[in-house]
Amino acid sequence: MRALQQIGRRTWLAWMAAGTWALWSELAYERGRTGWRIALGGADLATRVAQAQTRDPVHALRVLTDFVSAYVLVRGKDIAIVDTGLPNNGATCAETITTAGLCWEAVGHVLLTHSHPDHVGSMGEVLAAAPQARVYAGAEDIPQIKAPRTITPVTDGEEVFGLRIIATPGHTPGHLSVLDPVGSLLVVGDAMGHLNHRLSGSNPQYTADMAQANQSIKKLAALTFAKAVFGHGDPIDQDASAAVGTLARTL
Ligand SMILES: [Zn+2]
Repeated sequence: MRALQQIGRRTWLAWMAAGTWALWSELAYERGRTGWRIALGGADLATRVAQAQTRDPVHALRVLTDFVSAYVLVRGKDIAIVDTGLPNNGATCAETITTAGLCWEAVGHVLLTHSHPDHVGSMGEVLAAAPQARVYAGAEDIPQIKAPRTITPVTDGEEVFGLRIIATPGHTPGHLSVLDPVGSLLVVGDAMGHLNHRLSGSNPQYTADMAQANQSIKKLAALTFAKAVFGHGDPIDQDASAAVGTLARTL
């Protein structure tokens, strides 16, 4: 080991051998237990970590229409929109963007968690207002989405706008959740719901594969994040991953 660098309160980066880097992060679990996450990678690992260190956290602004929420994610002066809500939601998105002191030109990315109509309903309006934005969804859901523009397929572990894509299939085959590691925020989509202060799994009435959906919740429970926002229900503002862990243990 040639160099060990502490890059966060609980994170270390080490240069191991020619071209190989290792990243150690201490994880805090419930009841004071701790564990470690170790990532190995090439030079890009160091670059990605360096980028993450200088990145602003994302702020999620909720665009709530009727029973479904879309999110305007603001990072500095740039925006990614996750889901678009019901049809005719474009003006509400515009108002939300304005409250952030920004305009449609700031919207570079539109991520769709899944193909259901209450999540992709205003995609046409959003893309018309933000002609420069790229649009992304899970490959398995793309055929179900009528889009005025080519949708870029994204898979587990990819990064868009500094957001980590987490494949959470089950609700739909190509369902995605989105994690902002810097802001410790998970955008859940419909992988779970949080209605009436109760965290629950994917709504069985609208779920393609319940067993797979439950597996996806267990996958999310292995991550650490403080905040979570949902397609249906109110945000969780602290200890969100602990709540997901509690739910996962019942599945
Ligand atoms: Zn849905």
